[in-house]
Amino acid sequence: MSSSASAATAVLSGLGACRPWQEDFYRHLHQHPELSHQETQTAAAVAHRLRGSGYQVTEGVGGTGVVGILRNGDGPSVLLRADMDALPVQEATGLAYASTAQASVEDAAEAVPVMHACGHDVHVTCLLGAADLLAGHRDAWGGTVVALFQPAEELGDGARRMVEDGLAGLVGSVDVALAQHVLPGVAGTVGTRPGAVLSAADSLRVTVHGRGAHGSMPQAAVDPVVLAAMIVVRLQTVVSRELAPTTPAVLTVGSIRAGTKSNVIGDHAVLELNVRTYDEQTRAAVLDAVRRIVVAECQASGSPAEPDLELFDRFPPTVNDAATTERVRAAFAAHFGELATELPLQSASEDFSDLPTALGVPYTYWGIGGSDPDAYRAAVEAGTVAQDVPVNHSPFFAPVVQPTLDTGTSALVVAALAWLGR
Ligand code: ZN
Ligand code: ZN
Repeated sequence: MSSSASAATAVLSGLGACRPWQEDFYRHLHQHPELSHQETQTAAAVAHRLRGSGYQVTEGVGGTGVVGILRNGDGPSVLLRADMDALPVQEATGLAYASTAQASVEDAAEAVPVMHACGHDVHVTCLLGAADLLAGHRDAWGGTVVALFQPAEELGDGARRMVEDGLAGLVGSVDVALAQHVLPGVAGTVGTRPGAVLSAADSLRVTVHGRGAHGSMPQAAVDPVVLAAMIVVRLQTVVSRELAPTTPAVLTVGSIRAGTKSNVIGDHAVLELNVRTYDEQTRAAVLDAVRRIVVAECQASGSPAEPDLELFDRFPPTVNDAATTERVRAAFAAHFGELATELPLQSASEDFSDLPTALGVPYTYWGIGGSDPDAYRAAVEAGTVAQDVPVNHSPFFAPVVQPTLDTGTSALVVAALAWLGR
């Protein structure tokens, strides 16, 4: 047994004692979700627990972010990250601890429903458990644990705001950053993947300008509806004709708005695009192609003004460091046995990598299964996973409490000890 594996055994001997409060904490958090940048109660509960475990805690980092630091002699410094925010989704799980919470948001007149539909409540609970276990068995390891709880992952700016609020000075020198996400998949499994793991996401708002006129007099108009339609069609060639078949990317036009009435030609159209890519080079190539096509189609239509292109909701690509990932993969294989799996490439996006990128440290990001094992395996057998297994952001997303919490907690401990274990 390696030293880190025996350290994991020692630290995780406390798992049974953590389980009851973790399960209570999880159900409470699930029932009381908070939207991005509104995670005040969550952050207060996190800070309270971290202090109870003996961490030096800083609150209000980048808004509602919380950082707990535990120094335990010489050794590496490992940053463990969880995200805290929930989503404007009306929960439909029917769970006894389902959320009925509502919150107000800036651009909506009425309150919106709130749900932990992405499982960030799992992440928070697991990291609090791991932090507590590591604090309770300090003889088994040496170094520093940085337990970081970030706001607003769903908006893509929570990590960045913590960075801009002086995170580097707060955490000092860090050697590695680790994070996880609960996903559809057999609960109890944990999957790693070197290299690209999550896509970069970029949203674009494109406004093209036409010339309004009566619907019966097209000769007086530059029709923004036709112009927008041409752009939509031409954009379909970016992925299919400009990228290699081995380079994955997605370009979706999710929204198109123009005109008010059948017999009026409007004077502008607004398109909203979403782009997913897995490396910075492809990302730049696709965004350049979008710009080129929009400008050229405006020119082809005789558009009276330059188009406006505005990027928003941007997420960096998540590209796992190979050596870091191998170290975690080996530790997982030793601890979880055949429940340690390979994580497939994900089309979702995350802002986690903004933290290690800003700190200049390598990182890895893994997935844990949250689906009922029997139900998931039955769906795989029947070929109905896509229909039957609720995915993140679905109103039916409901990770089973166990073994999900045990697995996520253990994964953080095992991975951290791959650096800290004595
Ligand atoms: Zn999400
Ligand atoms: Zn998420």
